[in-house]
Amino acid sequence: MKDFTEAYAMKLDREDPLGALREEFSIQNKSLIYLDGNSLGMLVKDAAEDVQEEVEHAWGVQLIRSWNQGWYEKGLVLGDKIAKIAGASDGEIAVADSTSVNLYKLAYAALRLKHGRRKIITDDLNFPSDIYILKGLAASLGGGHEVVILESADGMTIAPEQVREAIDGDTALVSFSHVVFKSAFMYDMERVTAMAHEHGALTLWDLSHSIGSVPVELNRAGADLAVGCTYKYLNGGPGSPAFLYVRKDLQDQLTSPLQGWFGEENPFDFGLEYRPAKGIRRFLAGTPPILSMVPVERTLEMMIGAGIHQIREKSIALSEYLVGLVVHELTTLGFSVGVPVDVKRRGSHVSLKHPEAYRICKALIDPAVGNREVIPDFREPDHIRLGITPLYTRFIDLYHAVQELKHIVEYKLYENYSSQRDAVT
Ligand SMILES: *Cc1c(COP(=O)(O)O)cnc(C)c1O
Repeated sequence: MKDFTEAYAMKLDREDPLGALREEFSIQNKSLIYLDGNSLGMLVKDAAEDVQEEVEHAWGVQLIRSWNQGWYEKGLVLGDKIAKIAGASDGEIAVADSTSVNLYKLAYAALRLKHGRRKIITDDLNFPSDIYILKGLAASLGGGHEVVILESADGMTIAPEQVREAIDGDTALVSFSHVVFKSAFMYDMERVTAMAHEHGALTLWDLSHSIGSVPVELNRAGADLAVGCTYKYLNGGPGSPAFLYVRKDLQDQLTSPLQGWFGEENPFDFGLEYRPAKGIRRFLAGTPPILSMVPVERTLEMMIGAGIHQIREKSIALSEYLVGLVVHELTTLGFSVGVPVDVKRRGSHVSLKHPEAYRICKALIDPAVGNREVIPDFREPDHIRLGITPLYTRFIDLYHAVQELKHIVEYKLYENYSSQRDAVT
């Protein structure tokens, strides 16, 4: 890229085949640049209406009858839609619980199936909650298991050789984030899965930062298990439930540690002996949060319509544009790019590193600074994470965000802010 003008950004937006999708979103503040859709996706206008309808009609009028009019099956219906953008088949994905809880359930199931093997492999780029869950699970099983945490040499990536060397005949489970939350490094799922299978180990992928932004090919990769989030790229809203994937032929060999009635063969028999349901339903535990599931459907339909490969193409175009702009405008101001250069190994967000990252983020968000409010997020210790969400992020947004960053650092405007952290960053 050689053109760093505002006019060029506008031209890219005009030529964007997915540009019109932004109209589907509720955008109240036209001058706000939202670059945090990978933490909390934006609200789809029709989804807000769907929620209202669900409250007023399905709940308000139909009351308990709604359980037989779609509620009971909702987590599985949504799961089949997620399957279409995750390269999975019908009946392999269910929406339920949170990502952390699903990770626990599936990791437990895997360790039980691989009884006698001691090692669980993950890496230090993984989302801390995943590591807490894996360690807590290992401890609760009596301490015979070991969580092996691969260390990234460059703070951004893990080399395939490191994974290959770590997996052996004592490995029960290999669990990574497909796209990692800080550096956006993306694992080669197929290659890592093959390495695990060579030694008879299972894989458990966290798709929270990849679902809806990169084509995930669970079946083609031969992946065993996966979990992921719906309030990021899938725009499900705060606390919308997560999903879990179990490869079809493994489902009846695995059991959930949470033997709740929603995973029972026939919950309404109210029998006292638990019989795990056939198929993916056995991984459910209790009554799902119906209202929180509703918004996800609109985004899934939008993504299936647009095509996940087209969405990925736009995401790459946006992130390449942003990286080019950052290198051109910001590297002399102390910024560095904290994501892999190779787009094939990178998800949809771009992290910038700067020693004053926290205070720069505070200044970016402050409406009194510069011409626009920009919402990124800050990740310890020095990352400014710019979330690119291809359904609504525009080239011009990235252009303006970079101009704001430049202004804040050139004039040291961040010095007006405290580096005392907020509870949620
Ligand atoms: C966002 C995210 C989570 C969130 O877990 P919750 O249990 O839904 O809070 C988990 N793992 C990864 C990799 C994430 O990015």
